Amino acid sequence: MILSREQNKQCNITGRVFNIQKFSVNDGPGIRTIVFLKGCPLRCKWCSNPESQNKEFQLMYNNQNCIECYKCVQTCGKCAIEKNNSGKKLKINRNICDDCGKCVEKCYSEALVMSGKNMTVEEVIKEVKKDSAQFRRSKGGLTISGGEPLMQEEFTKQLLIEAKRNGINTAIETTGYGNEKSIEEIIPLIDVILLDIKNLNSEKHKKFTGVDNKIILENTKRIAELAKELIIRVPVIQGFNADKKSIREIAKFVRSLETIDEIHLLPYHKMGVNKYECLGRDYELLDLETPSEKLMDDLREEVLKEGLMCNIGAV
Ligand code: SF4
Ligand code: SF4
Repeated sequence: MILSREQNKQCNITGRVFNIQKFSVNDGPGIRTIVFLKGCPLRCKWCSNPESQNKEFQLMYNNQNCIECYKCVQTCGKCAIEKNNSGKKLKINRNICDDCGKCVEKCYSEALVMSGKNMTVEEVIKEVKKDSAQFRRSKGGLTISGGEPLMQEEFTKQLLIEAKRNGINTAIETTGYGNEKSIEEIIPLIDVILLDIKNLNSEKHKKFTGVDNKIILENTKRIAELAKELIIRVPVIQGFNADKKSIREIAKFVRSLETIDEIHLLPYHKMGVNKYECLGRDYELLDLETPSEKLMDDLREEVLKEGLMCNIGAV
């Protein structure tokens, strides 16, 4: 394929990716390849991809993979990493470590990895296109996730343009937290939008996610007008929104948008807890239970009462 000079320039735009996951069946129709971008304006306490939140590169250390060769200790010129005598095999001083990644190059057991990789649009699309045959067979495609893809708006936009030029179905997973201009430019390029609404109570929203819900709700209305297909997803979290009142309020709001007829309720899970440890962070919700089947059924009833369809679990 011969590209014009302008297309060539756009293919060279660089974004920061932390994972490309193949064969996903939960994040849009068919079999999908998910491109996870780094950076998110929210800080959801239950986030299962905590490495997605910070846009910067981040050193991750998995104690279980460490074979105690201590090559990393010898390599770090800043003395940010040292042997540990009790508990974990290594101690990383995150106040000194600048995430330069030199220790990662010496760690052959992959106990140390750097989260984040700069990739051009062309590089990402080349990787995604390897799965074209699966996409055709399953009516799948590319899903851009995060983090929040709208935070890397130009990169996301160009990825979507290139995917479309290659005949690839496009989906996005978004918090809805972005600026008006990027939403208006990006949404028409997407076949399926998966948008989270977490709580209509703004105070509670802020306490559990770090931001209030004003921008998200306004953007949801805007997206509902522009979207080809919009699916609202609700992560169901005990003590936050796993109650009839909270879910009924969300269902009422969704019904008022008039263009959406379905909500997906996603029960909380503990996947990703280990990643907090790898980042040297505490996980605040350790004692939190997964909602029972009975509770999920009761919450589904609340959605049905508003005349909407309701799915429990993934798309
Ligand atoms: S280089 Fe890797 S395996 Fe060796 S001590 Fe460091 S973290 Fe452990
Ligand atoms: S990332 Fe760089 S500064 Fe941090 S521990 Fe490794 S070598 Fe040291």
